[in-house]
Amino acid sequence: MKGTVYKSTGSWYTVKAEDGQFYQCRIKGKFRIKGIKNTNPVAVGDRVLFDLDHNVDEVVGVIKEIEERENYIIRKSVNLSKQTHIIAANIDIAFLIVTLNNPPTFTTFIDRFLVTAEAYGIKAVLLFNKVDTYTEEEKDEIRYLLGMYRAIGYEAIPISAKTGKNIERVKEMMLGKTSLFSGHSGVGKTTLINQLQPGLSLKTSEISEQHLQGQHTTTFAEMFDLSFDAQIIDTPGIKGFGIVEIEKEELGDYFPEFFKLKEQCKFNNCLHLEEPKCAVKEALELGEIAMSRYKSYLQIIEGEDENYRVDIYKE
Ligand code: GDP
Ligand code: ZN
Repeated sequence: MKGTVYKSTGSWYTVKAEDGQFYQCRIKGKFRIKGIKNTNPVAVGDRVLFDLDHNVDEVVGVIKEIEERENYIIRKSVNLSKQTHIIAANIDIAFLIVTLNNPPTFTTFIDRFLVTAEAYGIKAVLLFNKVDTYTEEEKDEIRYLLGMYRAIGYEAIPISAKTGKNIERVKEMMLGKTSLFSGHSGVGKTTLINQLQPGLSLKTSEISEQHLQGQHTTTFAEMFDLSFDAQIIDTPGIKGFGIVEIEKEELGDYFPEFFKLKEQCKFNNCLHLEEPKCAVKEALELGEIAMSRYKSYLQIIEGEDENYRVDIYKE
């Protein structure tokens, strides 16, 4: 039988088969995926082939094959084993919910998220939430950011999870797809998901609070069906994508507006730093590349981890 993994506890997997039924499945023996050293060979979102085993008291499924993943997001465990944990697979859209204030979302955080999504091969969409609360000045800033991100190819939508503004547009984008919602605590993830599907409460927020308190609970992703032919993957305790290891030389490829100019740099291995005749630096000076994007690039390439607010009007 064919199905999709909705939940994983590490030893049991809940699989939704094509007939719409859920089956509890295990994996047989050692199940390894080439090239990935990981603790969980099967992840939420995986499309699997499984057999039903009627030899035990209850009917259980045995997963025998995992279809090739379109993409997957990982987390490196913090303990000494440094094993890679696949959080979820086959994600169609990664939504990042951002707010200017309460809490502030720094452009460096947005850009890190976008870079990571590019590296994972996942379509990223920015949702600027709480537009019902902004002052005229803040609205200008939102308009600037929407325009800036759209100009480099990202979909960016102003929404209000509270009033429902543009929620229909978000739903349309989600149709027939599997989505993931990220963002700092307090940006409105719970409120938005409640707008999308009243009554569905995800663990996203509560667990991240626990993490703040230093409790190391093992959390597992879970997939949910919404009433309008869409799926959400809940990833408790994960507000972004974490850190992926990206080589210095490839970082520029994950900034679409830099990537476009790469061929025009004098050196084909140009890092767009101090090299002469760098097309990216020239575009930056002409104002064709946003200073905040370049700052994010520098911050990532220099390995600084500190988040700072980029004031777009002072650049
Ligand atoms: P989460 O931590 O990302 O899940 O954020 P919540 O959904 O819990 O929202 C945090 C706070 O922001 C709550 O008090 C919400 O009522 C409020 N909030 C969320 N979305 C909006 C919005 O679009 N407009 C306004 N005014 N408040 C919002
Ligand atoms: Zn360059």
